[in-house]
Amino acid sequence: MINPTDPIHVLLVDDDAFMLTLLERALKDKGHRVSTASNGADALRILREQGPSLVITDWNMPEMDGLELCRLIRSHDGIGFTYVIMLTGNTSTDQIVAGFEAGVDDYITKPFQKRELEVRLRAAERIIRLEAFYHSQTVQLHRVNAEVASMNSKLERMAFQLRDSESEAQRAKELADAAGRAKSEFLANMSHEIRTPMTAILGFADVLASGTDRRNTTPESIDVIDTIRRNGRHLLAILNDILDISKIEAGMLTVECIVCSPIEVVADVAAVMRVSAEEKNLQFQVESVGAIPMTIETDPTRVRQILLNLVENAVKFTESGGIRLIVRMKDDGHAPVLEIEVVDTGIGMTPEQIERAYEPFRQADDSTARRFGGSGLGLAISKKLAKLLGGGITIDSEAGKGTTVRISIATGPLDDIERVDRPFENARPTSAPPDLHDGPRLSCNILLAEDGVDSQRLIRFILERAGATLSIVENGRQAVDAALAAQTEDGSFDLILMDVQMPVLDGHQATRELRAAGYHGPIVALTAHAMSDDRQRAIDAGCDEYIAKPINAKKLVSTIQAQLQCQESNPKPARVS
Ligand code: ADP
Repeated sequence: MINPTDPIHVLLVDDDAFMLTLLERALKDKGHRVSTASNGADALRILREQGPSLVITDWNMPEMDGLELCRLIRSHDGIGFTYVIMLTGNTSTDQIVAGFEAGVDDYITKPFQKRELEVRLRAAERIIRLEAFYHSQTVQLHRVNAEVASMNSKLERMAFQLRDSESEAQRAKELADAAGRAKSEFLANMSHEIRTPMTAILGFADVLASGTDRRNTTPESIDVIDTIRRNGRHLLAILNDILDISKIEAGMLTVECIVCSPIEVVADVAAVMRVSAEEKNLQFQVESVGAIPMTIETDPTRVRQILLNLVENAVKFTESGGIRLIVRMKDDGHAPVLEIEVVDTGIGMTPEQIERAYEPFRQADDSTARRFGGSGLGLAISKKLAKLLGGGITIDSEAGKGTTVRISIATGPLDDIERVDRPFENARPTSAPPDLHDGPRLSCNILLAEDGVDSQRLIRFILERAGATLSIVENGRQAVDAALAAQTEDGSFDLILMDVQMPVLDGHQATRELRAAGYHGPIVALTAHAMSDDRQRAIDAGCDEYIAKPINAKKLVSTIQAQLQCQESNPKPARVS
């Protein structure tokens, strides 16, 4: 195949040597490359070997005439595109048609005219170059087609692999989900298993520590009781931290957003922590810079949790000097934020320790756990919580000099909110010793459904002391029977305390059965589970309220009282219709 710049290669075929020479000269003069052959066989050999693109052949030749040569050219596989011009003296229509049918492209009549030869050659050259161009495009097209086909098969292979890895990823996700579910279940069970005995331990330790029993108790025993209470609470705090961090890892940690007083939250934490600080002879100060809003919109329980973590650390890691809480409002340009600084004069941290401080279960060094205790979870949880509350945490610290931990929390809009100057100036330090007698008095008839003997005893102790009358059953079936029977006998219970996990019939199922039977009295669920959806599950089952174990005596009594008041102000028919 010729290139656009190549001269056309012409093969002249004629048994008349004179004519060959004449034509050869004429063509060479025009710059063509020329080969010659005196018969058809030689012409075919040159065609196969050199591939001229134009053949000008005489018609009448011995052995093989021009027509036969043309037929062979057209039928020969090894010969590419060839333009054939027939030289002939005979121009009868029959002959011309026969030539075209045999594959002849054009004619030149003999004796040829130079001008006609030139014109015919130009036409031939145009067609030859067009054919060459068409051929090169076709070749390119085939190449592109082949490339597309190979890309297609590559794509198909990739799609197949992708499907493979997708299903592998899906399998891995399912495995991870199953592992996550197993972990959550394990945590829920572990939480339950630990909380149940903790209810008895902490509850009875509180009972022993309360005033009446203290009178008959030796100082050593009081010390022992306080140690039990302190360690029980500590164990519970660790359990809560582990549950929180697991929820964070499972992406299940949520915060609420309610109107609350930041002043109260800070004062409350200060009241609790002042006692611990003063026990270590540390100064404890709460200050404000500028006016502080009376209310903000956030999750007060979580703010309290963060602040307690930070102040506990400050007290824990400070041996002399003191702790300051500094509260101020800031505006980051988009929205107002509440900022609380916890400043201590303790052991401080190196830059490396600060960097690692937020990693779960990481402490400054291995000796920290031995010297100061702790699980290394507090800062990890606090950081995540502060972020969920629309803020964050920063630490400024210098080893040996002290630490400042700064938390910020989004407050929501504050346009019409009153602000107070120096709100902490007159705050009275308060401590909260357990006093089981100060709680509200109850005068009611309660049905307790609880299978744990220790929990039964503790709750009986708390409620009877508060003035309530108690009937106890051991499972959900007995609870349903007792509640319905009491109604028909006209001695219905004012409230049912329903443990969730019980043999025979669990608390949720028992509550569902009671509600289905038309029982409208208040039912409060008791559960040692502390996962976030437990409350909702209790409410969905038909309970009015939910109390988590370990049971706090005051909370138990005040919850019951609130439910009874609610029932009084909004009475529902307690009788089965
Ligand atoms: P924990 O206090 O249970 O060890 P945290 O996550 O609250 O866990 O803190 C992680 C580590 O950061 C601590 O073990 C301690 O080494 C360091 N740290 C935290 N707060 C302070 C502080 N106020 N002063 C010095 N070191 C601190």
